[in-house]
Amino acid sequence: MRPYREAIVLAGGFGTRLAHVVPDVCKPMAPVAGRPFLRFIMDQLAAACFDRAVVADGYRREQIEGFFGPAYRGTAIEYSPEETPLLTGGAVKRALSRCESDWVFVLNGDTWFDVDFEAMEAAAVNVPDSVSAVIAVKRMRGFERYGTVDVDAGGSLTAFHEKRPCEEGLINAGVYLLRRDALNNMPEKFSLESDYFERVVSDGELRAVECAGGFIDIGVPEDYELAQTMLAPLAKSWKLALFDRDGTINVDTGHLYEPEKLELIPSTVDIMRGYSDDPDYKVVVVTNQAGIAKGLYTEADMRRLHRYMENELEKLGVHVDAWYFCPHHPDYTGPCECRKPAPGMLLSAMIDFAALPEDCVMYGDKVTDKNAAMKAGIDFEWAGV
Ligand SMILES: [Zn+2]
Repeated sequence: MRPYREAIVLAGGFGTRLAHVVPDVCKPMAPVAGRPFLRFIMDQLAAACFDRAVVADGYRREQIEGFFGPAYRGTAIEYSPEETPLLTGGAVKRALSRCESDWVFVLNGDTWFDVDFEAMEAAAVNVPDSVSAVIAVKRMRGFERYGTVDVDAGGSLTAFHEKRPCEEGLINAGVYLLRRDALNNMPEKFSLESDYFERVVSDGELRAVECAGGFIDIGVPEDYELAQTMLAPLAKSWKLALFDRDGTINVDTGHLYEPEKLELIPSTVDIMRGYSDDPDYKVVVVTNQAGIAKGLYTEADMRRLHRYMENELEKLGVHVDAWYFCPHHPDYTGPCECRKPAPGMLLSAMIDFAALPEDCVMYGDKVTDKNAAMKAGIDFEWAGV
């Protein structure tokens, strides 16, 4: 079962080098293939089932927060705005104070790198306490605008080198898995790269994982142009198969949160598998979880169950692409727009996946599911009953 995944996304950059190309937006929100660049990163996190993202923003943060709000495709989002520029290290340190996991991913909001999150996590297992970070490195050829790194046979990162013309070499690609307490002794404002990584590298505190995925730094005008075509395939719209949870995917035992009580409904699993196998479809769960409002279990309990369900469903050939939940109940938290029969969760999923109503179908076992589908303007099918 995968661990609880948290990421910090550095999105506070001013984007001076791009100012003449996209003057009115902050760099992470610069349009790429018709959508804000940051959305590709948030999609990457959602696809890897990140539970939580802390976006360290600042300049023009209203653009970012207005677009993403408190959650995106099932990943909860918090914001850690910097009032004064803290540099990368200061921004990460501040955001880390909002994190809970022992290890936290850090991504740059102006760089696309298709990293292998699992390989990075694996590199942080059973390492000495002194190891403070795993750095994703990328092999590049014929470049001069990046510094290079040395990595020894055991996977330790041993040296950083200044920018220079280079025929082939490994570069620090700006995606890290950082121990949560790594920066405790650092000041408020510092550069993560030059003031921290380059200082601790000689103590053997850094590990490296080479990732072969696509890499692009939109902070550079040439790459910004290249990104328009490179990321276009990722900007497609999807068809959606939305599923209610309790009573549809699993037997409704009433306020389920314990993994050991999970009982999947085979007929629904079969339907889900059909969509999961179809490359045009995304499989999404939309579930009312009023037990959170009532204090019967916590959001963390629910997320643990969902990770378990995800794992059990994967064994049966079903991949769930996103989970949407409503933690509210009108008697406890007041009215909301997400609790079915309101269509809020369905509409969020449709926005996040750029899905048209005619390309969506909702499966459920209750009239509230049917009414939510009707209000969202999409087809409904009974399932699980
Ligand atoms: Zn709600």
